[in-house]
Amino acid sequence: MKVIVEPSKYRLPIARPLVGVAGKTGTWRLERPVVDNNKCTRCYLCEIHCPVNVIRVEPDAGVSIDYDYCKGCGLCADVCPVLAIKMVPEE
Ligand code: SF4
Ligand code: SF4
Repeated sequence: MKVIVEPSKYRLPIARPLVGVAGKTGTWRLERPVVDNNKCTRCYLCEIHCPVNVIRVEPDAGVSIDYDYCKGCGLCADVCPVLAIKMVPEE
């Protein structure tokens, strides 16, 4: 028996890009980490522990965070031994 398949029957809908695509956080984050680079000792613990790898520690410049991708989990603030990172509410 010959089976005839209509190709259009199996087409999937085309996704439309929205805020939050490609790993970007979008607008749902409740808190963001703010770093006091004067307190920071450049120990790199926050950079190592960030689950989405958005923290960079430079010996001279200190800590920078890519807020487009930061999820606001607070882990960086929890591991900082000198309390140089504070979580503040999103505005
Ligand atoms: S709050 Fe979480 S996701 Fe954001 S920089 Fe800190 S550890 Fe990374
Ligand atoms: S964990 Fe704290 S002291 Fe260590 S690099 Fe990060 S901000 Fe600086």
